[in-house]
Amino acid sequence: MLLEAIYHRSTDSYCYAYDDRTVHIRLRTRKGDLESIKAVYGDKYDWAGTGTEKAMRIIASDELFDYWQAELTPPYGRLRYAFQLIDGEQQLWYTEQGFTTHRPQDPLTFFDYPFIWPSEVLAPPAWVREAVFYQIFTERFANGDVSNDPLGVRSWEEDNPGPHDYYGGDLQGVLDNVDYIQSLGVNAVYFTPLFEAHTNHKYDTADYYRIDRHFGDVSLMKKVVEAFHERGIRVVLDAVFNHSGKAFAPFRDVLDKGRASVYWDWFLMHDDQLAAGDRPNYHCFAFEAHMPKLNTANLKVRDYLLGVARYWIEECDIDGWRLDVANEVDHSFWREFRQSVKSLKPDFYILGEIWHDAMPWLRGDQFDAVMNYPVTEAILQFSAGGEIDAPTLSSRISRILVNYPQQVNEAAFNIIGSHDTPRVLTQTGDARKLMLAALLQFTLPGTPCIYYGDEIGMTGGADPDCRKPMIWDEARQDAELLGFYRRLIEWRKTYETLQAGACEFVYAHHRQLVVCRASASERIYIALNDEDTEQAITFAAEPVASYRALGGSGTFRMADSTMTVGLPPFGWIVLVAEPPEGA
Ligand code: CA
Repeated sequence: MLLEAIYHRSTDSYCYAYDDRTVHIRLRTRKGDLESIKAVYGDKYDWAGTGTEKAMRIIASDELFDYWQAELTPPYGRLRYAFQLIDGEQQLWYTEQGFTTHRPQDPLTFFDYPFIWPSEVLAPPAWVREAVFYQIFTERFANGDVSNDPLGVRSWEEDNPGPHDYYGGDLQGVLDNVDYIQSLGVNAVYFTPLFEAHTNHKYDTADYYRIDRHFGDVSLMKKVVEAFHERGIRVVLDAVFNHSGKAFAPFRDVLDKGRASVYWDWFLMHDDQLAAGDRPNYHCFAFEAHMPKLNTANLKVRDYLLGVARYWIEECDIDGWRLDVANEVDHSFWREFRQSVKSLKPDFYILGEIWHDAMPWLRGDQFDAVMNYPVTEAILQFSAGGEIDAPTLSSRISRILVNYPQQVNEAAFNIIGSHDTPRVLTQTGDARKLMLAALLQFTLPGTPCIYYGDEIGMTGGADPDCRKPMIWDEARQDAELLGFYRRLIEWRKTYETLQAGACEFVYAHHRQLVVCRASASERIYIALNDEDTEQAITFAAEPVASYRALGGSGTFRMADSTMTVGLPPFGWIVLVAEPPEGA
C-alpha cells in the first residue's frame, strides 16, 4: 500500500450530507493499489456500537488515483468513522490520527461528522436537475419591434457583427418566438443581461431597475415570463453585481463630485483622488474602466443590490439569477443574498459564474450550482481541439466529479458554447464532431444549456463573431442537427438516469469513449468514436439486461458479459439496458 497516496478529510467533497439522512464519505488511494476498503462507523455517542462496516466502491479513477465512496445513513444524523484498508494479507486502519495495524479502540480518534442540519444540506431546487436550458442573447435573437431599435441598426442578414454594432433584437422578438423555444423541448431559459446599459451585451448596467429601452419595458418582461411559465419553462436572468457600468447613477456622481460624493464608498477607490481614463485608480471588472467594481462590503451597496435581486422576483416572478463574476464578490454578501431570495421563493435557483474550483461557494450557504467551465474545457479539448485523448478526458471529468459533492454535479450548469466563446461548430469544424460534443454535454452529470443558434448550426469565431443574428430562415438551418438536439433534449428529460445516475467511464482508449450512467433500475451506455475511421470497441456490460439502441449510427452485439459496438467515422450509439419484464 502506498500510504502517501491516501487522502481524506472530513469536509467538502470527502465528507458531506447528500440529503437529510445520508452522508457520503470518500477516500483517495493510489490507482489499482487496494483490493477493498471498508468504512467502519457508528453513532458518535454510541461508542460501543462504533463498529458497523460498509464496503466502499470505486466511483472514479484518474491517471494516478482511485476514488472510493460509501453512502452512510447514521440513525441520528451524527457519525464517527474510520477506514479499514485491505490488500491481500495486509490490513491497516486509517483514522484521523493516522494508520494503525490494529483496529482502533478509541472512537475519539475516528473521523467525525458532527450532525446533519437539514437546513444546511446543499439542496439545489429539484427542477434544476431535470432542466435543459436555452441561452438567449437578446440583442441577436429576434427583432420583434423596430420602433425601439437603436440608431443605425445593421440589417439582420449581415452576419459579421462588430463589437459595438446593434441589430435591434428585443423582448418582443423573444415573445414572438416562445413557441419555437418550446418546440425544442427545453424547460428553462437563461437571458444575458436585460437592464439599461450602453453596450449591446448589457454587462455594463446603468440602471438595475429598468429593462433596457431597446429591449422593452417591465410590462413586456412580465408578459415574456408569463408566456414561458404557461409553457412550463423557467426563466433565469443575469445579475451583474460584481460591477456596474460607468453610466450607473452613483458612479456618475463620483465622477462629478469626486471624494465629496456620498457614493464614493460604493466603489473601491485606491486613493482619495479619482483618476478615471484608461488606467483608472479604482477596481474594475478585468481591464474595463467602464465597468467599476462595486463595494459589496458596504452595507448601502448591499441593501441596494439585494433590493434589485428581490425586485425582479417580486415584479416578474423570475425563477433564478445567474451571478456574473461571482467569485470576485464577497462570501458574506452571497450568504445574505441566498437568505433574501430564497425567503421569497424557496425553489429559486442561484447559479454562480465561477471558472475554477468553486467548492467554497457550494457548501449550502451560497449557490445552488456553478457554471461548469472545467467540463466545458475538457469536452472541447477532446472534441474540438483534439489536444486530449479519451483516457485524458475521462481522467479530467472523473477528477471534476470527485472534487464536488454528488448533488453539486447533478445541478452543475454544462455548456459547450456561450456568448463568450467561439461557436462550437466553428471550433469543431464538423457537424458530426459537434454532435459528439453535445452528446457528452447532455449525458454527463449536470444540466445542459444550449447557446441560441448552436442547435441549427450557426458558426462564428471569438466574440463578437459568436453573436451573429439568429438564423430564422429554415432553408439556412441545419435540420438534421436540429432534429438531433431535439432528441437529446427529450432523452435528457425522459431518463432520470441521465439526471441523477452514477457516471462511470467503462472504456477510454485513443479517441473512443464509453460512458455508463447507472441507476437502480437501468443503465445507459453512451459510446462514441471521435475519429475519421470505422471502429469496433468491446467492453464489459451487464449480462442480464436486454438492450435497445436509443439512437445513433452504430451497431451493437451482446455476447455473455461483453458488448461489442461498431461505430462509423465520428459515429456514436446510445444503448439502454433494461431489466427483463417483471424483474
Ligand atoms: Ca427592436
